[in-house]
Amino acid sequence: MESDIERAGRLMLASKHVVGLTGAGVSVESNIRPFRGPGGLWTEYGEPPMDGYQRFLANPKEDWEQRLSRGGYRRELYEALEVAKPNPAHYALAELEELGVLKYLITQNVDNLHRAAGSKEVAEIHGNFSKLRCIQCGSRYEREEISLEALPPHCPRCNGVIKSDGVMFGEPIPSDILRICEEETSKSDCMLLVGTSAFVYPAAGFPQEVKRRGGALIEVDPYETGITPFCDVSIRGKAGEMLPRIVDYIKVKPQRGESST
Ligand SMILES: [Zn+2]
Repeated sequence: MESDIERAGRLMLASKHVVGLTGAGVSVESNIRPFRGPGGLWTEYGEPPMDGYQRFLANPKEDWEQRLSRGGYRRELYEALEVAKPNPAHYALAELEELGVLKYLITQNVDNLHRAAGSKEVAEIHGNFSKLRCIQCGSRYEREEISLEALPPHCPRCNGVIKSDGVMFGEPIPSDILRICEEETSKSDCMLLVGTSAFVYPAAGFPQEVKRRGGALIEVDPYETGITPFCDVSIRGKAGEMLPRIVDYIKVKPQRGESST
């Protein structure tokens, strides 16, 4: 009997435009605590204010000072992010891209680990903690590129105020990223959901859109999620163990000459 791993691999090989969608579950396997749920940073420290972006706009200097002083959950988060390394799930996704099977990766994670593992076509829908972004022209910078001597820092290109690239509560998803996500989703006939309950919008809308157009959904998660009832294949287990098995299946399948039925 065909295993879930085989079904997932076969579906992906039969699809034209597989898009990945990853969430906190992938980061957790690199020892980054999730924000929400049991053991979550915000569960322990309290959620940041829902109007974080409006507060930033009202007083960017103060927000920068708080950020640099690393109060509350930020200290633990930044310390974890700075030492985090990609895990086998990140490498498996990068390999699926290299193999030409995965066309694009949308991530809700801010930890930069998909890029660190070698993924190239990545849309970081909630930003990237290692980058800064101008709120006026949208230019992104590496942290080292921008002096923090005077706060808030200003954009070398347009003199707009610079904030972290991480998307705050109340902040719209940067339009360039959202456009890419929507384009990739509209092309996708198979979405691979890894470590995400696809609960938070706008990411939650992407698998729904793929499903609505008759595409397939594959889920890899240790637990049942809100999206499980809509998935064609649900693989229960750690992403770092299951994704490499899908990669192995995909790599040997053509050599075995099996039919795709
Ligand atoms: Zn700018």
